[in-house]
Amino acid sequence: MELILLGPPGAGKGTQSKLLETRYGVAQISTGDMLRAEVKAGSPIGLEAKSIMDAGKLVSDDILIRMIGERIHRPDCAKGFILDGFPRTVPQAEALDKLLHETAVDLDAVIELKVDEAVLVERISGRFTCAKCGTGYHDTFKRPQREGVCDVCGGTEFIRRPDDKAETVHARLEAYNAQTAPILPYYRAQGRLHVVDGMADMADVEAEIEAVLRKIGIPPAVS
Ligand code: ADP
Ligand code: AMP
Repeated sequence: MELILLGPPGAGKGTQSKLLETRYGVAQISTGDMLRAEVKAGSPIGLEAKSIMDAGKLVSDDILIRMIGERIHRPDCAKGFILDGFPRTVPQAEALDKLLHETAVDLDAVIELKVDEAVLVERISGRFTCAKCGTGYHDTFKRPQREGVCDVCGGTEFIRRPDDKAETVHARLEAYNAQTAPILPYYRAQGRLHVVDGMADMADVEAEIEAVLRKIGIPPAVS
């Protein structure tokens, strides 16, 4: 299965793509996570990307297209992948089409998670993750079962992203509206775009995505 999850920051792409990764046995690819790993490693890409990410702007298409071109050929993508955070511009979408065409792989669907802007701000400002395993949480919507202890790995350290600050969130939403939203008509014209209500509870959003996938002939690998 080759799937794209599209939507503004805070729409639930990371949350849902991690759930789908397990259910469908495909690789979850988050370009935001890949870039944060480059920043942490202090690599040349990380050094270039850091100030752009901190400002809530988009890193250059060249860098992202090269990163994805390499990533989708790794062995964990043999059964397919879910893209979370890529493409984010029309040139990135066009480059992805070319990459998939070259490898004779067909994109199954693009799912847009639709969420109101006020809710996005609330979701982003309450987001935190386990420092050890990266599991995502929220101050209001998804707290760990035991306060201060990660449900998945038992870790006790949590981190908040520097770009989840209120000032940066507005720049990120602007970048989404100006540069990423134009991808929607691009995929609609290809007949691949499906819209899902991202305002619902996490489990209901997951069920709605699964219903879309079932309808186009893709059942989960694990029930
Ligand atoms: P994205 O990857 O699109 O930026 P995330 O998946 O990180 O978004 O979600 C942003 C925050 O909102 C996280 O803290 C997550 O726990 C929370 N969240 C995700 N989906 C929902 C939902 N359906 N209802 C309430 N909170 C949600
Ligand atoms: P995310 O984790 O998806 O919210 O991404 C965090 C930040 O990484 C974004 O605000 C951008 O600065 C950068 N980024 C991630 N993916 C892309 C992309 N496809 N194109 C350009 N910049 C990206």
